[in-house]
Amino acid sequence: MNKARQLYELQEVDLEIEAKREALAGVESRLGDSEALAEARALLASEQERLAELEKIQRLGEWEVEDMRSKTAVLEKKLYGGSVRNPKELVSLQEQVEHLKKAGRGQEDKVLDIMTEVETVQNRVAAKRKELQRMEEDWRQEQSNLSREQAELRASLASLEQKREELVARIDGVSLELYHDLRRRGQGRAVAKVEQGMCQGCRLVLSMNELQQARMGQALVQCSSCQRILYLS
Ligand SMILES: [Zn+2]
Repeated sequence: MNKARQLYELQEVDLEIEAKREALAGVESRLGDSEALAEARALLASEQERLAELEKIQRLGEWEVEDMRSKTAVLEKKLYGGSVRNPKELVSLQEQVEHLKKAGRGQEDKVLDIMTEVETVQNRVAAKRKELQRMEEDWRQEQSNLSREQAELRASLASLEQKREELVARIDGVSLELYHDLRRRGQGRAVAKVEQGMCQGCRLVLSMNELQQARMGQALVQCSSCQRILYLS
């Protein structure tokens, strides 16, 4: 068999192995926990915390409103019940009722403001929860795709490595050494195809003599410019 052809086939397999290994590393780097998900979960948790805090403030505020109302009712009963007749005392009671009612209205306004804020945060929490669910679904789907890709890449790498071993077994040691040496120096490409009389590794136009030797394929012929082994298909 043509030696250059064997080395060319080996190079094709080696390049494919490299590409699959790179793809596998890429897939594996994306398997596992997602930073974006962790961030979204933390954000939701802090919004929920804020909501719980606001709801507590709202309950306390409502309780205070109730308290003021019952205190006002007690004073009004005293004021209009007829049990107090002293005018001074009545005026004082009247003032206390007015004061409590005013404070009560202020407190109600505060509660209303808090309720508006609670609603805003509730909406935000609901939106964030929905967004998180969507992200988790996407993530699970992505992870399952990645696992499948990983298995496929591993399987094709195993078969490529098997193929490589078979190819290497048929190539002599000197040629293999030259191949590896040239691959190290030539950006992974030790063998260049010859097309239209040109070395496809460096675009040099080859001499008739070089072309003829390469065509015969008995011995390895290297390009005089880029040193790559010339292969005529
Ligand atoms: Zn060349």
